[in-house]
Amino acid sequence: MRRHLTFVILGVLAAAGAIAAAPAFLTSSVPLPAGAVARATATPPAQAQSSAPPIPSPILSAIPSPIASAAPLTDPGKPPDSLGRQAPFDAPNPALLTGYVWPLPRGRITNPFGPDWYSDNTVGGVRFHDGLDLATFCGDRIVAAHDGVVLAAGRKVDPWMGWIGSLAPSVARRDKYQLWGELPIVIVIDDGNGYRSIYAHFSKIAVRAGQAIRAGEFLGWEGRTGFATGCHLHYGLFSPYATDRFGLRADVVQRTKLPALEIARINPLLVLPPRPTPGSSPAPGPSQVSSSSPNPASGSAVDPLVAPPDERPGRQPAK
Ligand SMILES: [Zn+2]
Repeated sequence: MRRHLTFVILGVLAAAGAIAAAPAFLTSSVPLPAGAVARATATPPAQAQSSAPPIPSPILSAIPSPIASAAPLTDPGKPPDSLGRQAPFDAPNPALLTGYVWPLPRGRITNPFGPDWYSDNTVGGVRFHDGLDLATFCGDRIVAAHDGVVLAAGRKVDPWMGWIGSLAPSVARRDKYQLWGELPIVIVIDDGNGYRSIYAHFSKIAVRAGQAIRAGEFLGWEGRTGFATGCHLHYGLFSPYATDRFGLRADVVQRTKLPALEIARINPLLVLPPRPTPGSSPAPGPSQVSSSSPNPASGSAVDPLVAPPDERPGRQPAK
């Protein structure tokens, strides 16, 4: 079954021209273009499968289909608001977001946002890591990436995570089998700009729901709660106003009883500033920055803060 599934997914990937793009996502720190997720999400099923081998229907039904977005509820006749949203609303353009700082300033990127075989989520049927994994050492201090208000903190955070559908079946299952302890410790913050930040895998947290937070303020200690092979921070970012959707793998839906869809996440590298050069303290002056210094915006240089694929201990999703 798994072998068939692998073959089919690779076929769909090849047809969509995504294989060539995947290594770039995995080995560089270049942010995904703002429209990349939307394009991947919008790949028509007929086109994606046209050159793939025939798919037996039981296997096809096990693959989450590409998610068709509902048309945004906007009125193009009205000017956008101060966040760039069209009336009555849609997700603010990530390019307009300001005030973000690195939540784990010296963390290495151990798993970028993008296609990833080990992740529970899917985009257009392709397994996809829906956040940015950063790692330093167990117990390091994690800070808020943006000003905001804590919506939820702890393990019972699913109502704030952008799931599309009822959470009652998954809550009933966790209550019945006492499974809450296996979940990651998570903080969800309303960033006050139409987006929410998700911080996951804390060993212990220092904030409570309802608390106002400033960018850079201490949230809790880096840990490995939940499904994680090592201490790291999973940082996710989404707008509750967004109409794009990510999928959850069918086997995970079946096991956890969670909804099959979540609101699409955006690549945090779209809003995070260039990171300080390793070894500098706290920020280098222009004369200390060599021309080959890593910068997420420059793209081509090898970034020493990005772990190579075979050194990624945190290759596990937040959920
Ligand atoms: Zn992650």
